[in-house]
Amino acid sequence: MAFVTLATTDSYCMGATVVARSLRRHGTTRGIVVMVTPNVSQQSRLALESVFDEVIMVDVMDSEDRLHLALLGRPELGITFTKIHCWTLTQYSKCVFLDADTLVLCNVDELFERDELSAAPDPGWPDCFNSGVFVLRPSLHTHTGLMDHALQHGSFDGNARLHYVSQGRLEIVHFLGPVKPWSSSSQRDDGSSHATEQFATLWWKEYLSHTTPLVCYSPSSPGQ
Ligand code: UDP
Ligand code: MN
Repeated sequence: MAFVTLATTDSYCMGATVVARSLRRHGTTRGIVVMVTPNVSQQSRLALESVFDEVIMVDVMDSEDRLHLALLGRPELGITFTKIHCWTLTQYSKCVFLDADTLVLCNVDELFERDELSAAPDPGWPDCFNSGVFVLRPSLHTHTGLMDHALQHGSFDGNARLHYVSQGRLEIVHFLGPVKPWSSSSQRDDGSSHATEQFATLWWKEYLSHTTPLVCYSPSSPGQ
C-alpha cells in the first residue's frame, strides 16, 4: 500500500516534495511514490528520489493509437489521463492518491482502511467528489474503463481556493485552483483569504525544512 502523487512539471515537483515531507513529518508507515513524466528535469527527479520511496516514470502519450488520436484533439485531457495512470500501479493492493498541491497536517494512514473509491466532496460542486485526494485499488481493468469514460465524457473543474479534507478535524489542505503556494507573487491577487496565506506559509516552511543550500556563499567572508 502506498501514497501516490503526480508531477508532470518542475513546479509541480516542488509541490510533490511537500506532499512527501509532510507525510513523513507525521510518521507515515506506508510507502510514498511519485509518478513523473519524461519532461521533468533530471535535477527535479533527483530531488524527488531523495524524499520518495519510488519515482515512477509514466508517459502521457504511451497509450494505444486510438487514445493517442483522441488526445491530439483533446490536449487538456493529457494531465487527467496521467492521473488515471495510478490505477496501473498493480504492485500495490491499495493506494491513496494525493494531488501535488496538498499539504498533510497529521498522520492520515487511517485512509488505507477505506475502500475504493473514497474521496471528499468538492467545495465548488458538492454533489461531485474532488479528485485531489482519493483511495483506489489499482487494476488494469478499472484503468481501461476510466480511460474510455474520460475520452467519451471529458472532465470539468471547480474553482475554489482552498479545500480542507477532514473527518472531524483538519487533516489535509488542498490548494486547488490556478494559484499555488509556489506560484510567483505576480500571480497572486489581494483577495486571498487569511487562511490561504497561513497555509501557504506553512507550505513554504515544509518546502524549505530540509533544503540544504547547494552553494554556501558569504560575500563578507575574510580573505576574499
Ligand atoms: N498536475 C501536474 N502537472 C500539471 C497539472 C497538474 O503534474 O501541469 C498534477 C498535480 O499532481 C496536480 C494534479 O495534477 O496536483 C491536479 O492538478 P491541479 O492540482 O493543478 O488541479 P486543481 O486541484 O487546482 O483543480
Ligand atoms: Mn489540486
